[in-house]
Amino acid sequence: MRMCATLADAIGNTPLIRLRKPSEATGCEIWGKAEFLNPGQSVKDRAALWIIRDAMARGALRPGGTIVEGTAGNTGIGLALVGASMGFRTVIVIPETQSQEKKDMLRLAGAQLVEVPAVPYRNPDNYVRYSGRLAEELARTEANGAIWANQFDNIANRQAHIDATGPEIWEQTGGRVDGFTCAVGTGGTLAGVAMALQPKGVKIALADPEGAALHSFYTTGELASEGSSITEGIGQGRITANLEGFTPDMSFRIPDTEALPIVFDLLAEEGLCLGGSSGVNVAGAMRMARAMGPGHTIVTILCDYGTRYASKLYDPAFLRDKGLPVPQWLDGARAPLP
Ligand code: PMP
Repeated sequence: MRMCATLADAIGNTPLIRLRKPSEATGCEIWGKAEFLNPGQSVKDRAALWIIRDAMARGALRPGGTIVEGTAGNTGIGLALVGASMGFRTVIVIPETQSQEKKDMLRLAGAQLVEVPAVPYRNPDNYVRYSGRLAEELARTEANGAIWANQFDNIANRQAHIDATGPEIWEQTGGRVDGFTCAVGTGGTLAGVAMALQPKGVKIALADPEGAALHSFYTTGELASEGSSITEGIGQGRITANLEGFTPDMSFRIPDTEALPIVFDLLAEEGLCLGGSSGVNVAGAMRMARAMGPGHTIVTILCDYGTRYASKLYDPAFLRDKGLPVPQWLDGARAPLP
């Protein structure tokens, strides 16, 4: 048990939880790192803390300063909560397609929200590019200055996983870990854990959702995508600075029809309420287990808490609208009470 003098001290050191059904199905030991137990309920608290600490150390972020970021939500929640605990203001630019629950949480956490249409990176109004311009403007006009967190190309993000997530996994497993896999949003988690564990002989796999271009890049050398996914926070179309210098040992493309039933089973049968990206990750871990053969230990990331997606992933009407299968228990089918 820890005592934490600051919120920052409560970030990380998350438990590994054995995933019973995925382990039994593959003959491997599959473990999920419970990142949803961070204060902001996602893995992105780690990147937020490392980015803020780096900016403070460089003197770029001064007392009372403003943190600006373009984010699908979780990084913003981390920045806003850590920011609140350290006296910084946060301004978050978010694509309007992200879940209402994440937007509500951002506002609750004190962030000022700017909602923009979900347009590709090449469009100047893309949320990431918009946030960069807004940060420049606020840096000029705010009395205490402003920084752009720039999670995609700020390698303080992956440093969080080189310094902490990777070494935690190594220690927790006593060095008995054969594989690690996860999906990519910024690439901070996958590349950072890889940089910590690949030199120790751990194999690293990319689990890419449909609509992302990295599976194609790492298997054919070309950035190309097909299909789409309802998962949030993952699905990258370019090599970010966080991915530079990283090469996975294996790569899998995971369709929603494979990832979502796993998310639903994890809730119904293992009590784990998770977002869609965790389903892509666990599906990736099962593919990796089958590729490596029985008897191996594989770790993946349980990225964020599922209540964040009550109105999407866990809404039967939303799933039906997307042509995705709805689990019976989610559709209200329960045994009648006496
Ligand atoms: N899952 C969720 C729910 C996320 O919000 C993110 C971050 N955008 C990721 C996975 C991917 O993490 P990373 O940015 O480290 O690649």
